[in-house]
Amino acid sequence: MAVNQQAYQNIIHQINQQATLVAVSKIKPATDILELYQLGQKDFGENYVQELVDKYNQLPKDIQWHFIGHLQSNKVKYIAPFVYLIHGVDSLKLLQEINKQALKNNRTIHCLLQVHIAQEETKFGFDKNELLQINWAEIAALKGVEIGGLMGMASFTEDSTIVRNEFKLLKSIFNELQVIQPSIQILSMGMSGDYEIAIEEGSNMVRIGSLLFGSRS
Ligand SMILES: *Cc1c(COP(=O)(O)O)cnc(C)c1O
Repeated sequence: MAVNQQAYQNIIHQINQQATLVAVSKIKPATDILELYQLGQKDFGENYVQELVDKYNQLPKDIQWHFIGHLQSNKVKYIAPFVYLIHGVDSLKLLQEINKQALKNNRTIHCLLQVHIAQEETKFGFDKNELLQINWAEIAALKGVEIGGLMGMASFTEDSTIVRNEFKLLKSIFNELQVIQPSIQILSMGMSGDYEIAIEEGSNMVRIGSLLFGSRS
């Protein structure tokens, strides 16, 4: 059995009602996705554009595809016809391109702004000050996109205090922005190694791969 069905049931039970599970299926075959789909899972996350397009073409059309990787502007057009939620929007330039491609497809594409909360410089995203300076009227004029919330990744560390503090920071930014911009409803934080902490700190969407599908290495 390719999918860890026991882990799936445990996670569903643990996040019960509070959070949506996005099953991260990058690098895993379509057969693994189908196996989880048949257990009732509808939300899947992918990191690579070509892989996502291939899987979209092969798999049931009621799957909700989340793009969770780093998205390059020149590739938005390939996923714009069908993507359900783009988690990693890290620049207004990218948002404008998503808007343009959404309008071409007569769609509104829901997006999450990525927030840089980790210590690692390599991670992408806005910082708190940049988010507080966003001109929301300008974004509201982009009819092809809707900012549904925020996404963040904690530092890759064994130190759960660091992880917890980073999630606390993201939750506080989320609360602050929600007052300014009520469309901000989704808080996407938590992966295989840290989703329990993320849930405790107020996550309502977790992105879990290796616990469900096994390690990718
Ligand atoms: C790969 C990935 C995940 C899932 O990671 P696991 O540790 O396998 O659960 C979640 N979020 C993002 C952005 C990813 O790239």
